[in-house]
Amino acid sequence: MRLLVIEDEPDLLEVLAQSLREAGYAVDEASDGPTGLYKAAGADYDAVVLDLMLPGMSGWDLLRELRKTKATPVLILTARDTIPDRVKGLDAGADDYLTKPFELPELQARLRALIRRSAGQTKATLEVDDVEIDTAERTVRKAGQPVALTPREYALVELLALHKGRLVTRTMIYDHLFDEADDSLSNLVDVHVANVRKKLGKDFIMTRRGEGYQVHG
Ligand code: CA
Repeated sequence: MRLLVIEDEPDLLEVLAQSLREAGYAVDEASDGPTGLYKAAGADYDAVVLDLMLPGMSGWDLLRELRKTKATPVLILTARDTIPDRVKGLDAGADDYLTKPFELPELQARLRALIRRSAGQTKATLEVDDVEIDTAERTVRKAGQPVALTPREYALVELLALHKGRLVTRTMIYDHLFDEADDSLSNLVDVHVANVRKKLGKDFIMTRRGEGYQVHG
C-alpha cells in the first residue's frame, strides 16, 4: 500500500514517513501545499495524510482541488481542535480526522480502516480460500498455519486480497507497492509473485496474461 504524507513540519514528517515505512507502506512525502496537490493528483495513493496549515496552499484548499479529480481517502492531521474546523475538514471531503498530538498506532489503525473501506472491505481480516490475511498484525496464515512473508510479499498479498475476484494490473501493483524513492531493483513484480506462489501455493495467484494478476473471489 502506498501513502502520501503532506506535512510541513520536518521532524513530524520524518517521524511519520519512517514509522509508516516500518509498518510496511510505501511512502511519498510533500512539505508544502502545491507539491502535495501535484503528487496527490498525479498518482493513485491508497491514502493521503494531510496537514491543514501548509505553506503555499492550505490543506482545505488542497483537498477541495483534489476532490475535483480523485476520491483518494484523506486523513486530516491538525493541531486545531475545534468543532468548526472538524466540520470544515469533513465538508471539504476528508474521510477522517486526527488531532495533534496523536499516537502513531491510532494513525496506523485509522489508515488501515480507510484503506479497507475504500476497497469495499470492512473486516480487518481478509480471506482468500484457506489463506487468512490479518491486516492489523500484517500476518498471513494458510490452513491455520503462519506463513512468513517479506514486507513486499505481504503488501502484494494484501493488495490482491483487497481486490479479490477482480483484476489487479501490473500498473496497480507498481503504483501501490513502490514509492517514488524505490530503485528499479526492488520493482521486480514477477519475482514477488513467484515467491508468494512458493509460499501460498501456485494457484493462489492467477495470471491473467497480458493484463495482470488476480486471486479467487
Ligand atoms: Ca503545518
